[in-house]
Amino acid sequence: MPPPMLNDALFNFIGATPTPFHAVANLGSILQSAGFTILHENQEWQIEPEGRYALVRNGSLIAFTTGSGDFHREGFRLLGAHTDSPSLQLKPHPRAPSSPYLQFSVEKYGGALLNTWFDRELSLAGRVTVLADSGLACSCLIDFQEPVLYVPSLAIHLDRKANEGREINVQNDLSPVLAQSVSSEEQWHALLLERINTLNEDLTARSVLGYDLFCYDCSPPRFFGLDKKFICGPRLDNLLSCFIGLQALLDKDNTANCMLIFTNHEEIGSTSSSGALSNFAVSVLSRICGSLENHAISMNRSFFISLDNAHASHPNYIDKADTDHQVILNHGPVIKINSSQRYCSNSRSGAIFRLLCREAGVSPQNFIMRSDMACGSTIGPLTSAELGVEGVDVGVPTWAMHSIREVTGAMDPELLYQVSHHFFNRDDLVVISDI
Ligand code: ZN
Repeated sequence: MPPPMLNDALFNFIGATPTPFHAVANLGSILQSAGFTILHENQEWQIEPEGRYALVRNGSLIAFTTGSGDFHREGFRLLGAHTDSPSLQLKPHPRAPSSPYLQFSVEKYGGALLNTWFDRELSLAGRVTVLADSGLACSCLIDFQEPVLYVPSLAIHLDRKANEGREINVQNDLSPVLAQSVSSEEQWHALLLERINTLNEDLTARSVLGYDLFCYDCSPPRFFGLDKKFICGPRLDNLLSCFIGLQALLDKDNTANCMLIFTNHEEIGSTSSSGALSNFAVSVLSRICGSLENHAISMNRSFFISLDNAHASHPNYIDKADTDHQVILNHGPVIKINSSQRYCSNSRSGAIFRLLCREAGVSPQNFIMRSDMACGSTIGPLTSAELGVEGVDVGVPTWAMHSIREVTGAMDPELLYQVSHHFFNRDDLVVISDI
């Protein structure tokens, strides 16, 4: 796909994907349309050579293609990413009915940059579990799509020190306003049920049993800059990587064993039934490989690339970067390095990625934190440790990570795609032997 089309398709995907539940639904439906068979964990599998399969578990998705069926001889080319993004999540009950507006208190989901959530048109989306007429509990996706929420700032006249390091109290300051004419919890549930019943013809939902509803920025990604060299948009971390991994798998034209491992809950530490610390990927790979012996040999012959956005050096805060390792937008995928293995990269896995980049005609960059600052982390070390597979953490250079709108370069999705596509299409896995 040429760069303008790739970016347009990326913008459409992000616009249609407000939550991890929508991410796996949208990815699953694209994969199914492309001929992938959807598997279910509670059923027996018949994995065929040269097959294409996908499955989901609670906001996470695994998709894979099989080669000759010789898993222990060929290993897997593994590409990881996470499906969730920082957000504000509604608490179960609305705020006290004494308020003249319908408002909810929120919990901070992940490390959101909170000051960016004020004074924006926000929408609401997520998963609602309802009791259906049939007597069964059903989970449905919901997305209001339009602006239905707003968190107004306090005027500067009422807080003269607002520009001098204002603290944000999530419990008190970030409750979004939803409506004025809807005031009770009963009315709110009735509104949810009406939406769900309109969207799902086969379902008559009787009552709301629970929900995971997240606020999100419903303005689509767009280009900016006089030369249109930049992209700003919501949830670039890490839907951009999910989309690029998906395209690389869809465009693959060899018969290698390739797998996407996209997990939920990275922003809150990955400990869940489907996060990177769950048994999801291990369980799927062991079922594919069959015997313990095949699985162990196959993992030893595999390689893992973890995709997640990387910090680009900020032109206004240049002292926050190691100036000997500057990361520039539009200058290529970033290899993330940390000696404490907060990233799974090491010199050898980084070398393999550099070689892949060279063969794909792409120049990589290196990110390493200043030694007097703490380093973040991602799914890379967790997935690598769970699987026992050597890996490398890479991602597109990004400004304003965890802001409601993040920034990357207009060429960066394409550059990441080229090397991801080459990883899946190379004749064999790059192997560097120890001497
Ligand atoms: Zn991320």
